[in-house]
Parts: sequence; structure tokens; C-alpha cells
Amino acid sequence: MRAAPTGLTLLLLSLAVGQPSAGPVTGPFRLPTPNQALFEPGGESRFFAPTPGRDWQAGTFGCTRTEGRQLHEGIDILATQRDRQGEPTDPVTAAADGVVVYVNRTPALSNYGRYIVLLHRIEGLNVYTLYAHLRSIADALRPGQPVRAGQQIGVVGRSTNTRTPIARDRAHLHFEIAFMLSDRFEPWFKRTEPGERNDHGNYNGQNFVGIDPAEVLRLQQTLGPRFSLLRHVQGQVPLCTVRLRAVNLFWVRHYPALVEPAPAGTDPVVGYELTFAYQGLPFRARPITAREWPGQARLQLVHVNEAETQNRPCQRMLVRRGNRWALSSRGERLLDLLAY
Ligand SMILES: [Zn+2]
Repeated sequence: MRAAPTGLTLLLLSLAVGQPSAGPVTGPFRLPTPNQALFEPGGESRFFAPTPGRDWQAGTFGCTRTEGRQLHEGIDILATQRDRQGEPTDPVTAAADGVVVYVNRTPALSNYGRYIVLLHRIEGLNVYTLYAHLRSIADALRPGQPVRAGQQIGVVGRSTNTRTPIARDRAHLHFEIAFMLSDRFEPWFKRTEPGERNDHGNYNGQNFVGIDPAEVLRLQQTLGPRFSLLRHVQGQVPLCTVRLRAVNLFWVRHYPALVEPAPAGTDPVVGYELTFAYQGLPFRARPITAREWPGQARLQLVHVNEAETQNRPCQRMLVRRGNRWALSSRGERLLDLLAY
């Protein structure tokens, strides 16, 4: 016989079912494949897939490619299970509760090969996870579907459209935890790269900037419930601060938790002071008013963290002109996309 629900069980039930149309349920990240060696002492060489002729560091996030000059925007997680042909069979699982926002089933259309993008709402942040080079994608997976953390969405593989294929022994999951730059990537890309194809709308890799997933997973492991993704993002090391004369930025609307309140008073906001981490992630925005920034200048580089320019040889937002720093063409392009 079942007891009638008490007030507490009703509350718990409503919590489990509740949050009508509030989007994905918040939750911490977990590893997206059975490979757990990230958490084992000295397990790195069993966890990260190296590039040919390099060691496991090449499979980590950051300035780890082309002698440190090229950014790797995710982590490459080695396959642990193989079929008789030596092809990987590791299931790929959702890293957190979320919603499917993009599925590319045609490997020829991307250097990511077959890939999936999920959206999660964590501490008020719209954060995306991206799963690339998949061997296969779950048949039923469609944009708009909710997924639970740990739910299988695909199988680890080595699909890509690059001229050099990914060798069987390097089969891996390229995994990103990322932020979206613009909801108008498609028209912006069409205007700036008229000859180039974009088959992925806003879910083109160029419209995402990531943070280090291995760092996030390890911090979660160490800190447990004290880990805060929001504080982690807010605590990124600044590379530079740039003023951008534009209002109504998608990024500001999409990441209000990273935006300071506008100053009180009647002076209109004319733009934002954006602080960027070395990989190009804007992680703080401060509204600025006409009085604070008179004139018509569209962009102004207001601060450079010299030490970070040295520490991160793959940063491409800044160039040295004589004895001063300036925005590189890549940096200007990033700001152009944010403002478009
Ligand atoms: Zn990768």
C-alpha cells in the first residue's frame, strides 16, 4: 500500500518535473566517454590522443599545436574499446543535462566530421558541448530533443574532411566546452568570406570559443559542489580589454551573468568594454556611456596583459606594432562578429 504523498514528496515531485520551459536542467559535467584516465595519477598518456609524432600534450587544450603557435580548442580523448577491425566502439555520452541543438551527419562537410552540439544552462550561462569525429550518431537524435547527462548520443570515431585522415590508432573524441559568439554567424560569414561554404549555420566551429574541458572536469572532481562554472569563467586570465562601440550585442544578451550592470543615470550606453582571455573568449563586459567614451571610434584597445601575451604564444588577437600592441586582423574580425 502506498502512503498518500506528503508535502515533502509533493515538493520533490514538483522539483523533478518542474521548471516548465525553463530550458535544460542545470548540472555538472561528466566525462563524455568510458575513458576515465584523466582522473588517474599519470593517466594522461592513456587519456589524451597525441598528434602524429607528438606526445599526449598535443591532445590537450590550448597552445599545444604547431610548436605552441596554434590553438587546440578542445581535448582529444582516446578510444578505449575496439571491434575486430580495430575501429573504436566507445559510447559517447552527454556531458551534462541539456538539449540537442545541432547534428552534422555528413563527415565531408566539416573538419569535425560527424558532430553534435548540445546546449546546457548552468548557473545562468548558455554553455555548449561539442562532440566531434564521431563514428556514428544515435539515429533518433534531432535538434530540440532534451538529453540527460550520461545518455548515449554517438560512438567515438575518426571522421573528418581534412586531407590527412585520422589514423585508426588515433581514433578519439574531440570534445569542447564552448560559448557562442553570435546568432548572426551565417550572414556575417557570407559577407566576410563570400567564397567559403558554411553548412552549419550558427553551429560552425568558428562561432564558438572554448574553455579547457580537462581543467573544468578536474576542478569539479577536486572541489565537488563548491565548483562554480560561472566563477571559473569569470576567473579566466585576461589577455586584453577592448572597447567596442555597439549596443544590443548577442553575446551580452546570451551571457547576462558576465555583464556588469549599466551605470545609473541618464547618460546612454554606447558600447561595452570587453575583457578577453587568450583564446578569444570574452568573459566580462562593462557597459560604457557616451560621457565615458566620447567620439566615434568603433574600437579601442584599452589594456594588454603583457605577461599573458608571453605565456600564450598562440593568442592571435593582438600584434606588436613597434613598441605598442594593436588588435590583429583576427582580433578585429572577432570583434566585428560580436558586433554584427
Ligand atoms: Zn581535437
